[in-house]
Amino acid sequence: MTSTDSPDCLFCKIVAGDIPADVVASSDTAIAFRDIAPKAPVHVLVVPKEHYPDVSAFAATDTEGLAGVIGLADGVASELADGQYRLIFNTGPKAGQSVFHVHAHLLAGGELPGFA
Ligand code: IMP
Repeated sequence: MTSTDSPDCLFCKIVAGDIPADVVASSDTAIAFRDIAPKAPVHVLVVPKEHYPDVSAFAATDTEGLAGVIGLADGVASELADGQYRLIFNTGPKAGQSVFHVHAHLLAGGELPGFA
């Protein structure tokens, strides 16, 4: 499935340029853009250009693409912060996923709160 196969997907529309986003980096297979409601000084979403609903489907189908997303996130963390960061894939509604186009939350740029 490609991004153009999911016309109702918000992040497919961002990938296609149909909805504006603050894009900070891109590669052949992924883009990184600032989260509209940042939870850290640097809060960037890194998404594959192809549509997968979550990281489970992504990892099962395209491990190279998944490595590309992680690599792009790592590069952004070095560019926009000091290379220290947290990478989160919310997977499923119970985990807080609200947009069903797989995305990594890159959080950086400060002292991040620890998990309980
Ligand atoms: P989730 O809850 O893990 O699915 O994360 C979705 C994220 O997308 C949230 O952190 C939202 O703030 C973010 N978001 C929603 N709409 C937009 C947008 O149009 N541009 C950038 N980020 C968005």
